[in-house]
Amino acid sequence: MVSVAASPAVQPEPSTAPRRVTILGATGSIGTSTLSVIADRPEAFAVEAVTAFGNAERLARVAKEARARVAGIADRSAYDALASALAGSGIEAAAGAAAVEEAASRPVDVVVAGIVGSAGLAPTMAAIRAGSKVALANKECLVCAGDLFMGEARKGGVKILPLDSEHNAVFQALSGHSIDEVDRIILTGSGGPFRDWTKEAMAAANPDQALKHPTWSMGPKISIDSATLMNKGLEVIEAHHLFGVPEEQLDVVVHPQSIIHGMVAYKDGSVIAQMSAPDMRMPIAHCLSWPQRSPIGGPRLDLTRIGRFTFERPDLDRFPALRIARAALGAGSWATNILNAANEVAVAAYLAGNIGFLEIARLVEETIERAAAQGLSHAPGSIKDALALDREGRRIATSLLTRRETA
Ligand code: NAD
Ligand code: MG
Repeated sequence: MVSVAASPAVQPEPSTAPRRVTILGATGSIGTSTLSVIADRPEAFAVEAVTAFGNAERLARVAKEARARVAGIADRSAYDALASALAGSGIEAAAGAAAVEEAASRPVDVVVAGIVGSAGLAPTMAAIRAGSKVALANKECLVCAGDLFMGEARKGGVKILPLDSEHNAVFQALSGHSIDEVDRIILTGSGGPFRDWTKEAMAAANPDQALKHPTWSMGPKISIDSATLMNKGLEVIEAHHLFGVPEEQLDVVVHPQSIIHGMVAYKDGSVIAQMSAPDMRMPIAHCLSWPQRSPIGGPRLDLTRIGRFTFERPDLDRFPALRIARAALGAGSWATNILNAANEVAVAAYLAGNIGFLEIARLVEETIERAAAQGLSHAPGSIKDALALDREGRRIATSLLTRRETA
């Protein structure tokens, strides 16, 4: 399998023209951090398009601040609010799923894929088909349809830059080496807010407690995924697709300080780790400037203040989501697709107060079992098939949920 692994040994001359950037999910956590990196160096970047789901007022504000050419909002009913908020700015307003895809397909230097969930798959594929480099935060694209996604990128010669902090760390640690030289890839994780909670306490954890991440500030869905450790499971699947490494060579280590983000253990026994303060602006800046490195503001590492690094094995009994995700990767692309769909349904149900914390992983596992029993266990052959399977996974998960509620 070809991977995104190694950077070229001979790097092109730095260009002085501003890089054109499009931001999908510009109103979210990744979008906000990206805009902050860009705002610090206005001479280095020019924003082509920004998109969001439904918050017209906020999207218009960020479009104006970033001097974007186009703002695309997925929710059609938000068009009037967006158009009136942008009136006189010279920024084009557009609405609907097709408008978000159109924004993604404008050729630019790099598209930041910062939509949450499989909703980001079609727009991110549009960016790949247009030939733009993709800085990928939206890991659900790979969990839903990794083989097809990476296949399309390979076919078009499109570079996928890993933006997720662990994968960005691995990408940096792989620089100049081939994946054949690698023994293991190690993803770190903070362990989330419930790292040292008992199962009984976790069963009663409310969304406010689960959303309080100890080291990162992120959107609600990934914050819950971090609390269940499903996020690490999704990241193992993400790493498999990005780097072309089998599940057995992908380790997860709990590192509560969140300073080492990822490591590559080479066959000669050396381990290369990447470190930085836990701030998404760093991997974002790395992707936006790649293959160069550019100055960026923000916190700097002071190892003497941190004092100590610790490492633990993840507890798969208290955090079964990681085990379930690994099993899904072993079972095949149909299973990771259903895993992602069911997890999106389960996280939304938990945030709405409809299920308990420990039920998230149970619902995901049951949905995969049910999908297999219904004969859905074959690999989707196209993005359209992957999205149809995703809808089916959501339907099964929702029906299992309804049955619970009425039981
Ligand atoms: P978020 O909820 O803060 O933002 C999501 C963005 O996507 C918003 O702009 C929203 O308007 C947009 N969006 C949601 N549904 C949409 C739809 N149907 N169509 C179009 N746009 C839609 O999420 P986030 O925390 O920024 O995470 C975004 C992605 O990045 C996720 O896949 C997450 O796993 C990944 N990621 C996030 C972080 C982080 O620090 N937040 C770190 C690593 C990876
Ligand atoms: Mg991550």
